[in-house]
Amino acid sequence: MVGEREFRVVLLGLPGAGKGTQGKLLQQTLGIPTISTGDMLREAMNSGSELGRMARSYMQKGELVPDSVIVRMVEETIGSERCAKGFILDGFPRTYEQAKALDGVLEAWGKTLTKVLYFNLPEEEAVRRISGRMACKSCQRMYHNLFNPPPTSGRCECGAELGIREDDKEETVRKRVVVYRSQTLPLLEYYGQKEILCAIDASPTIENVQKEALKALCANA
Ligand code: ADP
Ligand code: ADP
Ligand code: ZN
Repeated sequence: MVGEREFRVVLLGLPGAGKGTQGKLLQQTLGIPTISTGDMLREAMNSGSELGRMARSYMQKGELVPDSVIVRMVEETIGSERCAKGFILDGFPRTYEQAKALDGVLEAWGKTLTKVLYFNLPEEEAVRRISGRMACKSCQRMYHNLFNPPPTSGRCECGAELGIREDDKEETVRKRVVVYRSQTLPLLEYYGQKEILCAIDASPTIENVQKEALKALCANA
């Protein structure tokens, strides 16, 4: 049944709220791709491309990459064949301009967003989560040194090495939280008015948050 439905979903929440973790699990369960703009930018950085170099200069400071760049990147991706049956957006939109642009693109295709999941977590808890975060350098899987440790120290389940993100140091995280408050938080009202917003308590375990997320997505089809 799940396979026949179309899901065009946005994941919202503070840096560290668990969007990436939950997005990757939803991808496995629902069989539709999770598009993480952060992962895409980090891939561009690793490949040494022009986009990657430009993005790094913003990301290192905890600032947002310009809307025009991000919107073009997302539009290309969600317009591709692999997103034809739907997609989950992790980390996009992050500004009012990005949200308007996304609506415009979908409208041109005769589509709308089906749901916006807001992962609600106190700021101190989000910062605590980020301070132990490790990501796989190969498959981007996320771990936490206390809350979600890897099976072997320093190694992903896929065998590749784990690393700490350049922008996960405390002062950059603080800056990202400030940017989130001023630029991204207003989207709660924007999507609230459209009546597609669903708030989820992000403080329980990964498994329990995932259950709530699936319940929210599959409610009143
Ligand atoms: P975001 O994509 O929103 O920045 P992540 O998914 O990367 O957040 O999660 C941030 C960190 O918190 C990671 O190290 C992850 O393993 C851990 N984490 C995610 N969800 C939970 C949870 N429900 N409880 C405890 N730790 C979590
Ligand atoms: P987190 O959810 O942990 O904050 P992300 O991986 O989503 O981290 O984003 C990391 C960084 O990449 C952001 O701080 C920002 O510089 C850049 N970035 C990611 N998505 C966007 C976006 N939609 N608009 C602008 N910048 C973005
Ligand atoms: Zn891996």
